[in-house]
Amino acid sequence: MERRVHPLPAGKSGGPEDVARPSRTEAEEAVRTLLRWIGEDPTRDGLHETPSRVTRAYGEFFGGYAQDPEAILRKTFEEIEGYDEMIILRGVRFESHCEHHMAPIIGHAWVAYVPNGRVVGISKLARVVEAFSKRLQIQERLTAQIANTINDVLKPQGVGVVIKAKHHCMSTRGVQKPGSDLVTSRMLGCFRDNAMTRQEFLAMVD
Ligand SMILES: [Zn+2]
Repeated sequence: MERRVHPLPAGKSGGPEDVARPSRTEAEEAVRTLLRWIGEDPTRDGLHETPSRVTRAYGEFFGGYAQDPEAILRKTFEEIEGYDEMIILRGVRFESHCEHHMAPIIGHAWVAYVPNGRVVGISKLARVVEAFSKRLQIQERLTAQIANTINDVLKPQGVGVVIKAKHHCMSTRGVQKPGSDLVTSRMLGCFRDNAMTRQEFLAMVD
């Protein structure tokens, strides 16, 4: 039986590092099991390719485990002519999955920081959002991980992250409350200590 070790560098996944991964064949078999469990016949024509499609889709949904968000941020620019105003990336759309139901969490992130001599390319902030969102998540942890990683690597004067998202486990099952958003935020450094900085940021969140 093929066994592969989780491909992540130690300490980057937010989860256990040495969980042996099943093979693709085993994963497809698990999808067939679920199909039978919901009352389907995995051998009928329409479902023949479904297990391989589902495992490929999971590879995309959870591609963040193979990405290292700290490495994404490590390439910084230092010649910024003393720029020390707030930098805000607004409304980054993301798709994640809740770790309780593996149901989609669809939302937007606002990411801001005040640099301290170093900045990153703006696309890198979006890639950090992606690296953490393409994992099983809870929104509170996703918010904190994005802010903490930017804070740890860039060592800016402060970081602010706001996330608004819809949880499909709320809208399609259980309490069935479509339309409700969950809003979370994490403020570090000058965003936490300085009410004016925080207000300047929150005024850009819509
Ligand atoms: Zn859920």
